[in-house]
Amino acid sequence: MASISSSMSIKSGISLWCPRSLSLDCHHSLEVHSTSFHRRNFVVSASASFANENREFVIVGGGNAAGYAARTFVEHGMADGRLCIVSKEAYAPYERPALTKGYLFPLDKKPARLPGFHTCVGSGGERQTPDWYKEKGIEMIYQDPVTKINAEKRTLTTNSGKLLKYGSLIIATGCTASRFPEKIGGNLHGVHYIRNVADADSLVSSLAKAKKVVVVGGGYIGMEVAAAAVGWNLDTSVIFPETHLLPRLFTPSLAQKYEELYEENGVKFIKGASIKSLEAGPDGNVAAVKLENGSTIDADLVVIGIGAKPAVSPFDKAVSLNSTVGGIEVDGLFRSNVPGIFAIGDVAAFPLKMYNRISRVEHVDHARGSAQHCVKALLTAQTHIYDYLPYFYSRVFEYEGSSRKVWWQFFGDNVGEAIQIGNFDPKIATFWLDSGKLKGVLLESGSPEEFQLLPRLARSQPSIDKVKLQSADSVEEALEIARASL
Ligand SMILES: Cc1cc2nc3c(=O)[nH]c(=O)nc-3n(C[C@H](O)[C@H](O)[C@H](O)COP(=O)(O)OP(=O)(O)OC[C@H]3O[C@@H](n4cnc5c(N)ncnc54)[C@H](O)[C@@H]3O)c2cc1C
Repeated sequence: MASISSSMSIKSGISLWCPRSLSLDCHHSLEVHSTSFHRRNFVVSASASFANENREFVIVGGGNAAGYAARTFVEHGMADGRLCIVSKEAYAPYERPALTKGYLFPLDKKPARLPGFHTCVGSGGERQTPDWYKEKGIEMIYQDPVTKINAEKRTLTTNSGKLLKYGSLIIATGCTASRFPEKIGGNLHGVHYIRNVADADSLVSSLAKAKKVVVVGGGYIGMEVAAAAVGWNLDTSVIFPETHLLPRLFTPSLAQKYEELYEENGVKFIKGASIKSLEAGPDGNVAAVKLENGSTIDADLVVIGIGAKPAVSPFDKAVSLNSTVGGIEVDGLFRSNVPGIFAIGDVAAFPLKMYNRISRVEHVDHARGSAQHCVKALLTAQTHIYDYLPYFYSRVFEYEGSSRKVWWQFFGDNVGEAIQIGNFDPKIATFWLDSGKLKGVLLESGSPEEFQLLPRLARSQPSIDKVKLQSADSVEEALEIARASL
C-alpha cells in the first residue's frame, strides 16, 4: 500500500479538554512525536471560554464536513463552549449538492432555499440552523476567512484580524471551482461558477433573464445545470472536450442513454470541443463562446463546470500536501503531519483502504463520513482507520412537471469490463467485473431496497458468473443474480 506512513513522519495529535470552569490563558503543550499512527500526542488545550483568543477546537470552513463534525462534537458532549467554526460564507453549514439541484428549480416550481437544507438533513439528521449552533454553545464566525496560520504557536488569523488560538484544528475548507483565465473571458459578466449560495443566487438571477445558456463541462455540475436550465425553458447547449457525458464514470453506451434523454428535453451537445475564448458583447456581458475549431455559439449566460481545486491556502506551507491527488495529506484518522491539525472532506488526501491508494474524494458522503470519523478519533479512544467505499450519485429533472426524473447511484470502483442491463425505461444498471469479481455497480431509478443492495455488493466484491449476468432479461433479475452471489 502506498501508505502515508512510509512517505512522511506522522505526528498524531488530540486535545485534552479542560473543564469549562478552568480558564487557562497559557497554552500547555505536552507533545510526544511518534511515527506510529497508534500512539498519540497529547496537547493540553486552552480555555473553554470564547472571551479571549483561546479556543479548544477550531474548525476552519463552514461547509458540509463542518456541519457533520459539529454534530459529532455535540453527540460527544464536547461542543458547548469549546468548539468554534470559522467560515468564509454568510450561512451556517448546508448540504452543498442542493445548489445545482433543488436550488436551481424555476421560481414557480418550489426551489430549495435555506434554511431548508442546512446540514444534517441530507442524511435524515437534524436541520442545524444558526440557532442550533447558538443553542449548542458553538461559536460561529461568519464571513471572516482564515488568512494565516502559525502552527508553532497554534494560532490562526482571520481576514478581519481576529487572532484565534486553538488546541486542535480541523481544516474543512473544501474546494474552489476551477475558473477560465481572465484573458479568455473567464471573469466576464454573465459567466458563472457555482460553489456556494452566493454563486447559486447570482446564477438564479441570470437564469431568470437569460435566453441562451452555454454550459461548459460534461461532468456532474454540467449535467445538473443543463437539466435545470431547460426547466427554465432556455435554449441550452453543453460543450465538452470528451466523447460523451461524465466520462470518468459512465461507459459510452450508458452515457448515450442519458444524452438521449437530455436531447429529448431540448439540450444540445457539442462534444469533442475545446473553448478558445468567451467573448463580450457591447454591454460587457458575455455574448458568445468561441471554439478552437473556429465556430461560435451565441450565449447570454455561460456556466463553467470544469472541476475544482482543493482549498489548501493558507495552510499549504504549514502541513504536508499530496503531490499526486492534491490536498492535505492525512492518515486514516485524518491527522495531518503536524500535531493537533486534522483535515477532512474535499481537502483531505487520505488512504482509501479498500483500494490501497491515497485518494481525495469530492463527494458529500465522504465529507460526512470523514467528519464523523475524525471527530470520534479526536474525542475518543477510537483508533480504527477510515474505510470508505466510494459512492457517487446524481438527481436531475426532479422539478414539478418534468416528464422523467433521473436518480442514479454508483458504489465501488469502475474498473474492468462493464456489463449493462436494462433499457432505461426507467431502470438501467451497469456492473463492472474485474477478474470475475464485481467491483462497481451503477443503478438508475432503483427502489430503496435495490439501492441498499449496491454498497453490500461493492464492498463484498462477490465472484459473479458473467455469462449468467449478461443473459439477465431485466435489471431486477441481474440484481438478483448479484445478490445470490453474496
Ligand atoms: C454545486 C455542487 C453540487 C454538488 N453535488 C454533489 C452531488 O450531487 N453529490 C455529491 O456526492 N457531492 C456533490 N458535491 C460535492 C459536495 O458538495 C462536496 O464534496 C462537499 O460539500 C465537501 O464538503 P467540505 O466541507 O469538504 O467542503 P465545502 O462544503 O465546500 O465547505 C468548505 C467551506 O470552507 C469555506 N472556506 C474555504 N476556505 C476558507 C478559509 N480560509 N476560512 C474559512 N472558511 C473557508 C468555504 O467557503 C466553504 O464554506 C457538489 C458540490 C457542488 C459545489
